[in-house]
Order: sequence, then C-alpha cells, then structure tokens
Amino acid sequence: MNFELNEEQLEFKARCRKFAREVIRPAARKHDEEESTPWEVVKEARRQGLQGIEHLQSTAMDGDGQMGAIAAEEMHWGCAGIALAIAGSGLAAAGIAATGTPEQIGYWVPECFGTGDEIKLGAYAVTEPQAGSDVKSLKTTAKRDGDEFVLNGTKVFITNGGIADVHVVVATVDPELGTGGQASFVVGKGTPGLSQGKKESKLGIRASHTAEVVLDECRIPVENLLGGEEKLARKLERARSGQRSRSADALATFEITRPIVGASALGIAQAAYEWTLEYLDGCSEAGVPMLKTQRIQQTLADVATEIEAARLLVQRASWMGRNGVPMTGGQGSMSKLKAGDVTMWATTTLMDLVGPYAWDTDCPLEKWFRDAKIYQLFEGTAEIQRMVISRMQAREYAERFEYGAEIAAKAMSTEAAKEPVPA
Ligand SMILES: Cc1cc2nc3c(=O)[nH]c(=O)nc-3n(C[C@H](O)[C@H](O)[C@H](O)COP(=O)(O)OP(=O)(O)OC[C@H]3O[C@@H](n4cnc5c(N)ncnc54)[C@H](O)[C@@H]3O)c2cc1C
Repeated sequence: MNFELNEEQLEFKARCRKFAREVIRPAARKHDEEESTPWEVVKEARRQGLQGIEHLQSTAMDGDGQMGAIAAEEMHWGCAGIALAIAGSGLAAAGIAATGTPEQIGYWVPECFGTGDEIKLGAYAVTEPQAGSDVKSLKTTAKRDGDEFVLNGTKVFITNGGIADVHVVVATVDPELGTGGQASFVVGKGTPGLSQGKKESKLGIRASHTAEVVLDECRIPVENLLGGEEKLARKLERARSGQRSRSADALATFEITRPIVGASALGIAQAAYEWTLEYLDGCSEAGVPMLKTQRIQQTLADVATEIEAARLLVQRASWMGRNGVPMTGGQGSMSKLKAGDVTMWATTTLMDLVGPYAWDTDCPLEKWFRDAKIYQLFEGTAEIQRMVISRMQAREYAERFEYGAEIAAKAMSTEAAKEPVPA
C-alpha cells in the first residue's frame, strides 16, 4: 500500500493549484458579487487543458483514480462557484453516459462541452418543487405522440438550467410506477417549449448559474429517449411485475461520483485552513504569537486532522471506483458526507479563531463559510447520505456475518427501507 501521490499526480496537482491561484482567485470576488457566469475563466480553463471532454478523458486514464479528485479539490480551493461553472456540465455527461446507447453517448456527451475554443454547457434536471430526495415523486411527464415525446413540467435548482446547450431531463412516462416509470430525455438548445424560469439568487457558489427549467409542450424526437425504447419497455415491464426499480447499478454509480463532490468541498476547507494559518501567523494574544498559544494549536490540530481524515476517505473511494472494487459499505457516500460536514465545521471553527473580522466581506473566510453549506444540501443531502450508508452497511453485515442477518432484516423491514434509495 502506497499513500504517496506519484510524480504525475503531483505535477497535475501543482498545475491545478497554479490555475486556481492565478486565474480563478482574481476573478472570484467579482463573480461572487455580481452572481455572474465566469465565461472568461471557463474559456481559459479549456485553453489550459483543464476543462472539457479531453480533460475528463485524461483524468480518467489515471489508474489510481485520483486525478478527478485532485482537480476538484484544487479548483474549488480557488473558488467553489467558479469551479462548478467549469465542471458542472459533467453532471449531464455522467447522466448520458450512465443511461445512453453508445451512439447517444458518442453524439451527446461532446455536445455538453463543445470542442476546441467553443464552450458548450450541459444541465442535468431531476429536482422538482416536491421531489428532490424523494425522487420517486417526480411530476414532469413525457408522453408519446407519434415520433415525438412531449415533455411538461418544471424543474428547480438546476445547475446551468436554461443556459445549457444540452438539458438531460428526468421525467415520468408512468407516474404509478415511481422511479420504475421514469426515463431520461435529452432536450437540445432552442427546442420550442424549453425555457429558463427564475434564476436563483444564492447564499454561496454564486458564480455557478442555478435556475428553474420550464418544459411547456416541449417536443423532442423519440431518438432523444436515453437508452432507447426497448430498454424503457423492459424497465416498465419489470416495474409492472413488481420488481424493485432502482437497481444496484444506480447505487453503484452514485458511490463512484460522490467522492468528487467530497473532494470539491475539501478544496474550500483546505483554502480556509491555509488562509487562517497565514493570518494568525501575524497575530498575537496578550503578547504571545497566536500560533504558539495552546488554545489555538488545539483547534488547528483538530481542523487539520479532520480535513486529512476526510481526504483519505475521498482518496480511498476514488481508488475503489476506478479499480472496480465494489463500494458495498457506502464508501463513496461516506466520503461525501464526511467531507461536507468537515468543511462546514472547519470554516465555522476557523471563523471563531479569527473573530469578528471573519464576518467582514473583506475576509475570505466569510465567502468560504457561505460556499461550504451547499455540500450538505445538494448531490444528496447529508441526511440522505446517512440513510444510504446505513442501508448499505446493513446489507453488508447480512452478507458477512450470520448475526448481521438479524440486524439487516430489522433495518430493511420498515416501509421506508423498501422504497428506492434516493439520489
Ligand atoms: C445550488 C444548487 C444546485 C443544484 N443543482 C441541481 C442540478 O443540477 N440538478 C438537479 O436535479 N438538482 C439540483 N439541485 C437540487 C438538489 O439536489 C436538491 O435540492 C437536494 O437533493 C434536496 O432535495 P429537495 O430539494 O427535494 O429537499 P428535501 O428532500 O425536501 O429535503 C428537505 C430536508 O429534509 C431532509 N430529508 C428528506 N428526506 C429525508 C429522509 N427520508 N430522512 C431524513 N431526512 C430527509 C433533507 O435531508 C433536507 O434536510 C441543486 C440544488 C442547489 C441548492
């Protein structure tokens, strides 16, 4: 077992940090204040090979699975909102890759990014006013009409919603069947009936565009049904015959993508920790340099340890995902849960050390504190991560130990546990 990053990974980490320091940070305050999309930074990231499909392909080549997490942490160290503006299209691409046919993947994934200097965006639209965690209750409908599907409904809190070139929309073809009656559809830019609703004004990650997406008699060709008609027919058939709709595959996919979200959160925690160390280095308390007082040392040690522990969870889950080691114990969800909680706790704790200045908009801690909260709220809330972990743990116990079967039976016996596990 070797915990060291190799030379290539270290070089890549340094390159991402340089980009975050020299390009992202100088633009962060403006886009945070204006709540504007940082197009110029996204373009520069593309120019430097840190955004787009080729960047994704090159990070995926790393046999240790660490490059994606390294990029996420370092870019978010610069500014979480801008980093999400750079990487947000990856959600739509992942949705297409997970459910599309090879032809659909080959055509639509590049459309989420654009090629060369051309920047295109993707959006992945699942959440609705009454259905986010409770994904089985989606109300957006997709009805077949000749060679087309007609989509109707409203999606909320969609990253790149309305400004994307490709919207991947999850809609229901048979509401009676819960997630078993749902499918994903690609809606191209300019499709009549697709429009942006309210743009959200947010507490944090303000450089990332979040908006409602309205689908009003939005007609798309049948070919835009991801996975194709036969696959959907099989899925509906399974659901109608009472089989569980959310397959182990879907759970496994979430386990693989969650460490990247954890790494993103840790970028903020690391930035806050580094800044506070530097700031306190110039301060003293009753004539004693702050970094030499035991009170401060105790807290800083805890912050450093928690960040490191969360990073190890992220690194392990990233390695497991890349090497096909099943995360049956919820290791991916653990990494996202821990990193989100540590980041919120660390920014708050560091603000306590710095005092009232940390509340001033001149102090970068104020922004990191605002940016941190989202990692307990999106991509599966902290509570949902805990539910996923506890259910996966129960199943794992059942398989490993005889006495575990009893624990698992209890955990799986409630009505709630029979429901599909939410995203
Ligand atoms: C900035 C931002 C960007 C986003 N980007 C996207 C995007 O690109 N695409 C997209 O589809 N969505 C996106 N979302 C939506 C986000 O993923 C959802 O808001 C999130 O999953 C929570 O779902 P919800 O809004 O239905 O909240 P609810 O599920 O209503 O949650 C409310 C509270 O109840 C808790 N809760 C819910 N169910 C349970 C349970 N069974 N047990 C215990 N506690 C529970 C939750 O943890 C939470 O604390 C984004 C959200 C934000 C804020």
